[in-house]
Amino acid sequence: MSFFAPLNPQPADALLALIGLFRNDPRSHKIDLGVGVFRDDAGKTPVMRAVKAAEHKLWESQDSKSYLGPEGNVAFARHMARLALGEVELSGRLSGVQTPGGTGALRLAAELVAATRPGATVWVGTPTWPNHPPILAAAGLKMQTYRHFDPASQTLTFDAVMDALNKAQAGDVALLHGCCHNPTGADFSLDQWKAIAATLSERGIVPFLDLAYQGLGLGMEQDAAGVRLVMGACPEALIAYSCDKNFGVYRDRVGALIVQTASAADSDRVSSNVLALARANWSMPPDHGGAVIATLLDDPALAADWKAELDTMRDRLLGIRDALASHGGVLARVAEQRGMFSLLPLSPDVVKHLREDHAVYMAGSGRINIAGLSVETAGIFAKALAASL
Ligand code: PMP
Repeated sequence: MSFFAPLNPQPADALLALIGLFRNDPRSHKIDLGVGVFRDDAGKTPVMRAVKAAEHKLWESQDSKSYLGPEGNVAFARHMARLALGEVELSGRLSGVQTPGGTGALRLAAELVAATRPGATVWVGTPTWPNHPPILAAAGLKMQTYRHFDPASQTLTFDAVMDALNKAQAGDVALLHGCCHNPTGADFSLDQWKAIAATLSERGIVPFLDLAYQGLGLGMEQDAAGVRLVMGACPEALIAYSCDKNFGVYRDRVGALIVQTASAADSDRVSSNVLALARANWSMPPDHGGAVIATLLDDPALAADWKAELDTMRDRLLGIRDALASHGGVLARVAEQRGMFSLLPLSPDVVKHLREDHAVYMAGSGRINIAGLSVETAGIFAKALAASL
């Protein structure tokens, strides 16, 4: 038997397969609601203006590409902590490092939890981003699931969330989407966040906050409100931050892991372990994206232009959500959901019918990327949907 013969083939990424099908479809009215990237009205995923300008500035000023350390760009990590938490410093009980995307931050956080409490249990609401379970499993963590959302009624199942948190034991971890829940768009209200924060702190459950779409829901501050409440209530917490969506730098892989500890001494312990784990994973994160975003946020004019463009992107999503919801039926609740995604209660047959008969491409789960539509095509999609149900 050959060395590699024991490997079992792994399923291909269904969304990547969908890209291929979409590309090869000759119908000019085709609509892509599959892949999770922002699109403008022209269907493009542009480089944001301020990012382009910061890249230019960096190109002119950068005089070395010598190694950084495993912590990556320190100024960048501080900026991410400030976007997420307000006027904070990465000192005392708070530490942070740059990571390769939000995925790198999640993986590093999972490994830090596993190094602290081998085999710890992480509570995860379903459905969730499909990469969450394999990341937790790769770190050797156990996962307990509970229902976050009911697609049929399009409602957030808050009772199930609270039941699960009331079952969790001290020292367990709760993975929570900070805003713009992927794939459902069903976010907690502020009152729900307050109840969650109180339960986490009373029961000694450690929050693990995944913040991958800040600014694409209701606004930079509003989208961080839940995370800030939890960080205020719980002495110990982890944030996996991605700025691949809100800065549109997907392929540059830009994220940060921020950790809050009970004491400064714990923070030193955490930092040295985070750096050792980062070294064993990727030695140091890719520099370019972090350096660009630090350059952007250090420049008040560029920072203001980035915020203005982000506002336009968010308004576009909210406008499409309103347009979809005006058609009622399974789309009625879409206006209450936030961010890039909603999860429609569609059978695989309906999804297939939409693709074959109406050239509408979406994930088999019924998840739609709101940015794949426009206020105009929202009506076309709603009609195709009505004809397919
Ligand atoms: N968390 C969630 C909920 C996501 O949707 C994503 C990206 N799809 C990530 C984390 C990872 O982001 P990144 O591309 O920065 O690795």
